[in-house]
Amino acid sequence: MPLGTTLDPMQEQQPQRNGARVVTRKTIGLIAHDDKKDDMVAFALAHKTQLATHDLVGTGTTGGRVAQGTGLTVTALKSGPLGGDAQIGAMIAEGRLDALIFFIDPMSALPHDVDVKALTRLATLYDIPVAYNKSTAEAVLKAL
Ligand code: PGA
Repeated sequence: MPLGTTLDPMQEQQPQRNGARVVTRKTIGLIAHDDKKDDMVAFALAHKTQLATHDLVGTGTTGGRVAQGTGLTVTALKSGPLGGDAQIGAMIAEGRLDALIFFIDPMSALPHDVDVKALTRLATLYDIPVAYNKSTAEAVLKAL
């Protein structure tokens, strides 16, 4: 290093530039109830390029379906009814999730509704952006 050059300690923490856009990597949670899983895969396919710039984590079946259907890397947790929603809730409480895309089926009752309620309560409490349908998910993705 030439004399007189100073190291910028913040340099490595700067967001990366991709052309004119600044890319800041976020962690996004993906959950879809059974009747909405095809919609989630279609949404992820349509927004694959942008989603690939973030870290994705999903409940077991949703995460597997999105990974298989799009080729995106998705960290799959437990299946929702077996605790996956609670795991996503814990990530929110620990400050490890930046946004949640949660395609809810408004027409079916769920055995793990209490977990879903807890998750949506935590997302509200910690002020995490949450999208419950496709148009909101598109708005959230744009905002990220
Ligand atoms: P799944 O869970 O992705 O494992 O099906 C989603 C849910 O029903 O909460």
